[in-house]
Amino acid sequence: MGEFELIAKYFSAVGAKRSDVITGVGDDGAVIQVRDGHDLVVTTDTMVSGTHFFANDDPRALGHKLVTVNISDLAAMGAEPAWLSLALTLPEVNEHWLSQFSAGINETAEYYNCQLVGGDTTRGPLSLTMTAKGLVPRGKALSRSGAKVGDYIYVTGTLGDAALGLKLQQGLHQVSKKHQTHILQRFQYPSARVALGQALRNIANSAMDLSDGLYGDIQHILHRSAVGASIDVQKLPLSQALKDSCDNNTAYGLALSGGEDYELLFTVSENKRGSLDVLLSPYGVAITCIGRITGAIGKLELKKSEQTFSYQPQGFKHFA
Ligand SMILES: [Mg+2]
Repeated sequence: MGEFELIAKYFSAVGAKRSDVITGVGDDGAVIQVRDGHDLVVTTDTMVSGTHFFANDDPRALGHKLVTVNISDLAAMGAEPAWLSLALTLPEVNEHWLSQFSAGINETAEYYNCQLVGGDTTRGPLSLTMTAKGLVPRGKALSRSGAKVGDYIYVTGTLGDAALGLKLQQGLHQVSKKHQTHILQRFQYPSARVALGQALRNIANSAMDLSDGLYGDIQHILHRSAVGASIDVQKLPLSQALKDSCDNNTAYGLALSGGEDYELLFTVSENKRGSLDVLLSPYGVAITCIGRITGAIGKLELKKSEQTFSYQPQGFKHFA
């Protein structure tokens, strides 16, 4: 099967069918009608076999994750996802793998109302690159640079589940049978907080998504906003599954540095906290206040029961 047949068979009609796509897959470029009064938000993520995933991972889950990690970046910007492109490097044409991978992209793109509008395929070591484009009302994009001293720091959902899921998949950690599905699901089929990101447009001073773990990720907000942060580890939202599967310090470690949670981290000023609770309650995603932004530029302070919590961060590495 040649490149053109492959594209036609597996990638020509993937995701939602959007009326703003004038020309999609199959031409030299995609032609898209961009909505008036909006800014375009563009993000790219690459997943390399042996670094971000294992060559024998379920291709459907890989397709799902590739879309989700990109959409999660759009969510963090407060954008509405719209269009995707895919650059695929394959060691060989394996039709079973391709059909599952394409199905994973298709169902996830459809879920987020995104259409695959183009891409490229090449032969080489397995590598998956996706670019996602979305729209945000002009001037309303969220960023990492707007955090203010005194802001309250929030995260969505629960932290550390995906990292535990990876350990479970690798056979490095036991999880009781009743929690296994939930924990594996959180690692293999993460969700992007799209509706919530859009709801934060007029509320949050800064926002980002958590891909590498809170401890490392929040440093980007601290540096871009020239502020510090104080976080109470006892306030970190942990799922029952995580609490039942680990001792406290292991759970804090996974929540702080585990990575791949794809939850949102955002900061809100004191006077917006009330509207935050009211506006976000219909979204059905828990939000938890975990600390405050401080004036100690670039410094992240971890506390537990008003005492300093000493923590040696471990970066999230698949093959560590
Ligand atoms: Mg991100």
